[in-house]
Amino acid sequence: VLAASGLCATCAHVRVVPSKRGSEFVLCRRSEDDPRYARYPPLPVLDCPGYRRAEGVERPGGSR
Ligand code: SF4
Repeated sequence: VLAASGLCATCAHVRVVPSKRGSEFVLCRRSEDDPRYARYPPLPVLDCPGYRRAEGVERPGGSR
């Protein structure tokens, strides 16, 4: 699910939550203290003001 999530894939605020049916959801942890962010953002997220690049994570297809 992360690979298709756009910016969330490399965002420090993301958390992947497995569902009972075997799929996964992208949970935006920014939503916990900022109501402007959806708890489960519609994917892919292409532009997000809250994006913060996670350390040690490369953008898909990108080089370091
Ligand atoms: S802050 Fe934006 S890019 Fe980061 S997880 Fe939340 S919705 Fe995705």
